Amino acid sequence: MTRYGQPAPMPDSIRQYMRGGKDPARAFPCPRCGVAAHRPCRIPSRGVPLAQVHEQRVNHRAQTVACCPTCQVPPTVPCHADGRALKDGAVHPARHTEAKGEAA
Ligand SMILES: [Zn+2]
Ligand SMILES: [Zn+2]
Repeated sequence: MTRYGQPAPMPDSIRQYMRGGKDPARAFPCPRCGVAAHRPCRIPSRGVPLAQVHEQRVNHRAQTVACCPTCQVPPTVPCHADGRALKDGAVHPARHTEAKGEAA
C-alpha cells in the first residue's frame, strides 16, 4: 500500500450527496431560508435545520441549470406565463424534468 503525504478528505459536497442528501438542489444556496450551498435548509425564524430542502431551492436550482421547455427560456431566466414571472420563483414541471436529466 502506498503512503501519501496527506490524506485526501472527501469534499463536503460528495459526502452530503452520498449521505442520502439526494437533492442536488443542496449544491445551491437557498433563496428561502438564505443558507449557503451544501448547508441544510432551516426554518428561517428559528434556525432549526430541516430534513428536506425548500421547494424554492429546488426551483432555484432548476431555473439555474435547465432551460424550460414550457415557456422556452434559457437557464437562469425565470419561468413565466402570460408575460409574468411565476410566483415565488416557481418553475414549470417540465423544467424540473430537464434539471433532473442534467443531474444524472
Ligand atoms: Zn431553505
Ligand atoms: Zn417555464
